[in-house]
Amino acid sequence: MENCIFCKIIKGDIPSKRVYEDEEMIIIHDVAPKAKLHYLCIPKTHFALLKEMDDERAAIVARCLQKVSSLEETLGLGEGYRVIINQGKNGGQTVHHLHIHLLGGEELGDF
Ligand code: AMP
Repeated sequence: MENCIFCKIIKGDIPSKRVYEDEEMIIIHDVAPKAKLHYLCIPKTHFALLKEMDDERAAIVARCLQKVSSLEETLGLGEGYRVIINQGKNGGQTVHHLHIHLLGGEELGDF
């Protein structure tokens, strides 16, 4: 997608601090961290909302979560972390390319 900031990051047109990449996803440091550690796991396929998932996209999101779990220790999230997927206006979604926030590196407490 032409004007999507995450598509530009995936293509390498906008720099990012990548900690993982494969053919389906990247994991980067969030540029404005909301916790000591704040990563974004971003599927390379462009779509914005969970409700836009077909079976193939759902499988990609599942593999993103599986990959995140396999990298917990490497990412410094071994003591636990929070997973957030903001959806739409009320969910506070500002980038309309589905992404999974991973927050940790400290005790986050409850909401
Ligand atoms: P959301 O509000 O769920 O759409 O989250 C978008 C996230 O993308 C925010 O936490 C931003 O700080 C983050 N973000 C925006 N631009 C960049 C960028 N160039 N590199 C890394 N993270 C970014």
